[in-house]
Amino acid sequence: MYDIKIPNYLHAFANLEPIRSSRPLAGRGALVTGSTRGIGAGIAEKLAEAGCDIILNGRTDQNDGAHLAAEFARCFNVRADYFSADLRSGEQVKALAAFAQEQLKKVDILVNNAGIQYVAPVENFPDERWDEVIALNLSSAFRAIKAVLPGMRSRGWGRIINIASVHGLVGSEQKSAYVAAKHGLVGLTKVVALEAANDGITCNAICPGWVLTDIVQRQIETRSRERGMAIEDAEKDLLSAKQPMHQFSTVAGIGSLAAFLCSSGAQTITGSALTMDGGWTAV
Ligand code: NAD
Repeated sequence: MYDIKIPNYLHAFANLEPIRSSRPLAGRGALVTGSTRGIGAGIAEKLAEAGCDIILNGRTDQNDGAHLAAEFARCFNVRADYFSADLRSGEQVKALAAFAQEQLKKVDILVNNAGIQYVAPVENFPDERWDEVIALNLSSAFRAIKAVLPGMRSRGWGRIINIASVHGLVGSEQKSAYVAAKHGLVGLTKVVALEAANDGITCNAICPGWVLTDIVQRQIETRSRERGMAIEDAEKDLLSAKQPMHQFSTVAGIGSLAAFLCSSGAQTITGSALTMDGGWTAV
């Protein structure tokens, strides 16, 4: 017979809930804009893996999107739906938010990810391109937050994640609209964080450096064309021009950071602009 003496510190664990399953976000509903590919799809995957029901969105047609949602539902055993909307339009942002609230019954997590890029010097920057970039990269986030915030407040829980960029913190030539929109998004993040600070809601921005998605692939192709370089050389050239670490961040890495921001461990992280940028903004 062994006389087992339980150390005092272990008594502290007696009142803890049983260890949660590996699906810590089960029962939560998430809306991720621009989630048919790239970073948005990476975030949606990590949230679904953690058990979230998901509304996907993009400009892909409704049938292809519905097919993608069915794959999410099958692979992650969650509810998943797709809503095709062009979020440059305020009306379509409202329609997407209404669809998400109707399908999920609640939007606990909002990820404002949809974004576009346009590159030109200020004096040649077409007005309509400026308007489009601001409408999608900044105003759509404002409108989506406005639509879901009252529900989050009434339930006393919410996570808002705005996918900004290093360009929310520093500038680069030829990207006036993008840099202005992303700086605006970081500012919007802070204001929402302050206004919701004691309502169980956090609002943060993620600021990636280079991630090899379509938006960047196009910039590599342009660089290759303009500088007469092979694609692989243009890729290396792009990376090393701004980022001390010469490697791309991954959509899975950004997805994991977003999932962490929705976890209980992150409940007091709010109003932050979290970089994942290979040291870009450390310079
Ligand atoms: P991507 O082009 O691969 O994907 C963009 C997504 O947005 C797609 O799902 C697309 O359907 C959707 N979209 C485009 N226009 C839309 C519109 N008008 N209405 C609704 N949806 C629309 O881009 P990505 O690289 O995955 O970028 C996602 C976000 O991350 C963007 O906000 C971008 O600014 C930001 N970001 C990207 C990088 C990078 O290196 N890739 C770095 C920093 C920040």
